[in-house]
Amino acid sequence: MTAQLLDGKTLARELQDSMREKVDRFRQRHGAVPKLTAVLVGEDPASQVYVRNKQQACERVGLASDLIRLDAATTEDQLLACVMRLNADPAVHGILVQLPLPSRMSANRVLDAIDPRKDVDAFHPENVGLLSQGRPRFLPCTPHGVLQILHRYGLSVAGKRVVIVGRSDIVGRPLSLLLGAKDSHLGPDLCNATVTVCHSRTPDLAAVTAEADVLIAAIGRAKLIDARMVRPGAVVVDVGINRLESGLVGDVDFESVREVASHLTPVPGGIGPLTVAMLLHNTLHAAELAHA
Ligand code: NAP
Repeated sequence: MTAQLLDGKTLARELQDSMREKVDRFRQRHGAVPKLTAVLVGEDPASQVYVRNKQQACERVGLASDLIRLDAATTEDQLLACVMRLNADPAVHGILVQLPLPSRMSANRVLDAIDPRKDVDAFHPENVGLLSQGRPRFLPCTPHGVLQILHRYGLSVAGKRVVIVGRSDIVGRPLSLLLGAKDSHLGPDLCNATVTVCHSRTPDLAAVTAEADVLIAAIGRAKLIDARMVRPGAVVVDVGINRLESGLVGDVDFESVREVASHLTPVPGGIGPLTVAMLLHNTLHAAELAHA
């Protein structure tokens, strides 16, 4: 079997096209442009690329965007003061503090300071709490991207065994909440999974992953998931982005797994573009909430 590839790049473009129309309608109705402001501390090269991609995507759909660059010597108090200014600015609808922050800063303290109604990454404890109660204000961008691609290809998780490798606050844990929830805004196929979350202390990882109908890798270890760890016919979603000298690779060994899986997301061109599309979606949603 050779897996069908799940094309996140094309889907992200389609979602952005429909978002452009929604942004136009918002502008006509409210006479305002939804705006995302990103804050970047220091010179981390990968973060610079991510922020640039997000800004370009904003432009493509007609959202306003702004980047505040703070040098690496910025103190946590200065960053917090910047966040407070953005919280108080009615023209800013979404605030994104690009991670990782310098290690001397507490990311939790900074992210907790963002107004939860402008928290388009959905990292604020209030938004995490709402998500865990099944009444999300914003869906976290990468998990939402995973839902969108499964939905687009008509792949159901309902009643299926889903194994997620990775339990981070950004990907694995919120994804487990969404897929195991009682319902989903994308319909009955994108919830009611029986979800197992694995991590670095999971004994015999391969035995667990091999039972998955849907296997999701969000680990940050290049090509860790190989064909022997995948049940023949499983759907495999690769969230990982690892920079090797040869280029970007996922957490899944693409060449071997594509021979056993039924469906597989490539890296690049899988979940990455959808994460950006969902950030734009959240920015528009934040603006709609502000003008409701
Ligand atoms: P993270 O915070 O470092 O979490 C990694 C998770 O993987 C942890 O739960 C860790 O377990 C687990 N893990 C590490 N090594 C393992 C092993 N050998 N076996 C089993 N589990 C293992 O990373 P993250 O932020 O979730 O990101 C994960 C990957 O997704 C990264 O490659 C990142 O670049 C990528 N990512 C992509 C997008 C996108 O848009 N496509 C967005 C966000 C992240 P412990 O909890 O025990 O440490």
